[in-house]
Amino acid sequence: MLIGAHVSTAGGLENVLERAKETTSDAIQIFNQSPRMWRPTKYSEDDFAAFREGREGTRLQEVMIHMIYLINPAAGDREMQKKSLESLTHALRVAEGIGALGVVVHPGALKQDSRATAKKRAVKLLKEALARTDTARIVYENTAGSPQLLGLDFDETAELIEKTGTKRVGLCIDSCHLHATGYDVRSNEGVAELVDEIESKVGLDKLLAIHLNDSRDARGSNRDRHAAMGKGEIGRKGFRAFLSEPRFDGIPAVSESPGLGGKGPDKAEVQLARRLRREGRKARGLKD
Ligand SMILES: [Zn+2]
Ligand SMILES: [Zn+2]
Repeated sequence: MLIGAHVSTAGGLENVLERAKETTSDAIQIFNQSPRMWRPTKYSEDDFAAFREGREGTRLQEVMIHMIYLINPAAGDREMQKKSLESLTHALRVAEGIGALGVVVHPGALKQDSRATAKKRAVKLLKEALARTDTARIVYENTAGSPQLLGLDFDETAELIEKTGTKRVGLCIDSCHLHATGYDVRSNEGVAELVDEIESKVGLDKLLAIHLNDSRDARGSNRDRHAAMGKGEIGRKGFRAFLSEPRFDGIPAVSESPGLGGKGPDKAEVQLARRLRREGRKARGLKD
């Protein structure tokens, strides 16, 4: 598992690598622009080249981009569709520029329409964004928080992935969202069952990224409120099981939590995750 943090891009891409180092991240996630504004951040080819060169020789092995929260690929509203498409296309281009593994996307939410219509719209928009770009992948994240969201379970995510119908698509799982939607991420058996389900419905080769968030709410609450690792309902014991799942080996896994210091994902949390993973592996009788 390549453990790391979601880090800020404040001050430009050059600061991102500094923050990756500070947090001892083997993988990071960034927003390609301010997550609550439509205005895209303009990067030059030089910015991209400097980032790619700056990464070389560091411990940082994977970078992912998280799509801004404003988009809704499933929207029926024309203006929202247009803005979502432009924004997603921009994020995919930035991903290509910096050599990121892909863009993590929440597939959207339905308003008055049926799930089937919402899904159709989301897939159409995502396919269009892929057609406008070259290599970057869209990585669907499993969601939690409202019954209106697409992607609450792996049947639906599998359907979205299948209908998008390209190799440039993958899956991201979030421990908090899984816990909120009723999965047991706190025991070895529960995590094994979860991975079995992903394997049979989506395919393990599609599992490209993991978000490591503890949850402030009870299992099955369908609430999406992140807690720092060990400070929520999943707890240290739960993360020992989740982090040590052997089929997660090699996958980038980043925290998007408030962090142990309360200022966002930090070095202490990244190092705690590594320690809990080691302890979990030991308890399973696995070597480091
Ligand atoms: Zn997440
Ligand atoms: Zn969340």
